[in-house]
Amino acid sequence: MIVLALMAALLTGASHEEARYVMGTMAVVRAEAPAGETAVAAVDAAFAEMTRLESIMSTWREDTEISRLKAAVPGSWTTVSPELGEVLAAALDVAAASDGAFDPTVLPLVKTWGLRTGALHVPTPAVLDSLRQRVGYRLVEVAGNRIRFLRAGVELDLGGVAKGFALDRARSAMIATGATAGVLDLGGSLLVFGPRDADSVGIVAPDDPARRVATVQVRDACVATSGQYERYVEIDGHRYGHILDPRTGRSVDRRGSVTVVAREGWLADALATAAFVLGPEAGAGLVARYQGASCVFVSEDGRGGWVVTRHPRR
Ligand code: AMP
Ligand code: MG
Repeated sequence: MIVLALMAALLTGASHEEARYVMGTMAVVRAEAPAGETAVAAVDAAFAEMTRLESIMSTWREDTEISRLKAAVPGSWTTVSPELGEVLAAALDVAAASDGAFDPTVLPLVKTWGLRTGALHVPTPAVLDSLRQRVGYRLVEVAGNRIRFLRAGVELDLGGVAKGFALDRARSAMIATGATAGVLDLGGSLLVFGPRDADSVGIVAPDDPARRVATVQVRDACVATSGQYERYVEIDGHRYGHILDPRTGRSVDRRGSVTVVAREGWLADALATAAFVLGPEAGAGLVARYQGASCVFVSEDGRGGWVVTRHPRR
């Protein structure tokens, strides 16, 4: 009965789609609902939620909750909003599972490399070595909505997980508003929900966004892609991008991309970043540890082209 009712709503219902700039990128949200005004309200609710989360989690602004955490005294607990506690706990889970390949304390490295200003600067080994004091997921603890840093100078960067988390919360807001189905695209991370046919999502060649090299089918899931191909600088044949390996302090010098599909947006997002740092073999091993998650690596084939590997293989 419920299924029939939902199908009837979809057949007779309305939809609404809007694009707005949020979380530093263009977002497109589409809602399906029994009535037009409900679809409009659901899209509004999704954007309101993403904007709210940005004001908590963005490290690009000084007035956000996460940026104000810098003032915390090492060793003492700070009460934060429940969302911040939750996303940090999720990030620390993937950090531990990936042995620190994913690390939400990467911000001091990101800043030192000049990745925030766009003026890339290759730090000396001595500088990278000194930053080890301030980078490491074991230097931060979370208990519910309380956070503490164990050392001075630790700074959080949730850029590898926040968009996926925001997609999860935006979906909840849409459902609470009465949406029956939706499609949310946040800067290339896509989340779809509701009784829709599976969506075919294209994975493009890392050197040519117009060329599709693979397709994934998504239904009630999120698909997130990580790679260095969108934002990077090349110096002396080395490619420096925005994804760093916190274990070495260096930018991951790897072409290609990894796409992860998972039910939860935060998980797809964090795993994509982690798997990119780890590379195809260890990355696929990490994704395999999460039930229902799958990944597609696009790697160099050594002849100027790309090779696609899927895990699990179908
Ligand atoms: P994504 O686009 O989801 O792969 O996330 C990349 C962003 O996450 C970067 O712009 C940094 O802000 C942050 N980041 C970079 N390297 C890491 C890492 N190894 N672990 C966690 N976050 C990272
Ligand atoms: Mg990510």
